[in-house]
Amino acid sequence: MNRKNALLFVAILLIGGLATLQYLRRSYEYKSNQFLMDTLVTITVHGKDETQLKQAVTEAYTEMHRIADLADGFPQPGTAAYNSSDVCRINQQAGKQPVRVDRDTIEMLLLAKKYNRLSDGAFDVTIGPVMELWGFGGKNPHVPPADKLREALKLVDSGNLEVNETEQTAFLRKTGMKLDLGAMAKGYATEKALQVIKKHGIQKAMIDAGGNIRVLGSNLQGKPWRIGIKDPRKSDGIVAVLPLENSSAVTSGDYYRYFEAGGKRYHHILDPRTGYPATNSMSVTAVTRDAGLADILSTVFFVLSPGNALDLARTMAGVELFLVSADGHIRHTPPLLSRLEVKPGESYRYDQGR
Ligand code: AMP
Ligand code: MG
Repeated sequence: MNRKNALLFVAILLIGGLATLQYLRRSYEYKSNQFLMDTLVTITVHGKDETQLKQAVTEAYTEMHRIADLADGFPQPGTAAYNSSDVCRINQQAGKQPVRVDRDTIEMLLLAKKYNRLSDGAFDVTIGPVMELWGFGGKNPHVPPADKLREALKLVDSGNLEVNETEQTAFLRKTGMKLDLGAMAKGYATEKALQVIKKHGIQKAMIDAGGNIRVLGSNLQGKPWRIGIKDPRKSDGIVAVLPLENSSAVTSGDYYRYFEAGGKRYHHILDPRTGYPATNSMSVTAVTRDAGLADILSTVFFVLSPGNALDLARTMAGVELFLVSADGHIRHTPPLLSRLEVKPGESYRYDQGR
């Protein structure tokens, strides 16, 4: 190569390099937090057009607020929030008449009924009257008297929740019945928000809604997003790292909302057969593409025994499960073996072969 050609070659390299740098520089990360549905929601998006990223995130939050409002069980009667809550209106008309509701409420209730049947009643969104007795989330959570629990349990039955798709109505057949969508609304809202982001042409995103994770594509480095699964007994520890791409991981745990009485822990995920907190697991993570389904399944698998939960997960295509049982055993569905980094530490035993 003569001197002239060599110079030309260097110049081409330089221009090429600068263009690449410029291209990389133009890939932005935009991150934003909002307190929503009783939790801190963080949305992270990657892309080239900063204005478009911001717009997509704003619209995603609007969508999450819309679903949150439909499912909110606790606004003050008479307020705008009360009127926009389908759950409040359905509860108020329990035993009286069907209520016309949003398409998304119908969708959520149909899913709720489906997984109630599939879990043999372990998942039941008509758990409202029993949840109310425990008072989780309020100022004074307490163990309710056994006779009151028994009475309230008689009202818990998703078989008495009528959903009419054609009329777009929902109806609780018995007076006193109450819906509580706490086990599924956050995941459903997360999925809807992600779909909004996707519609904007964005290919890399993560929504973290307090333990409900949904990712789109890979991270900025082109690698899977790395999700830490929390140690259920050490708030700053993790028991596993899960690489995630175009998928969702939702954790239900006995450490999110609980109180202690008489040296015992009472948490917010109830077994509809007893009315008392489910005792099989400390933490359960459901992994599947759709965040709405993952949220439902995390609660389903938490209430079931670890053996039954793993058996059920194996029958479901595209569903994986990771759990820490009440006696400190870490178990998961076999396909996770090649992806997970498990860090059982001193406190847990890892049953690798499930
Ligand atoms: P998650 O953290 O997704 O497991 O949801 C827990 C929330 O779901 C609770 O705070 C209740 O609002 C509601 N819930 C509790 N037990 C059940 C159950 N067995 N089936 C359906 N929803 C439940
Ligand atoms: Mg759930």
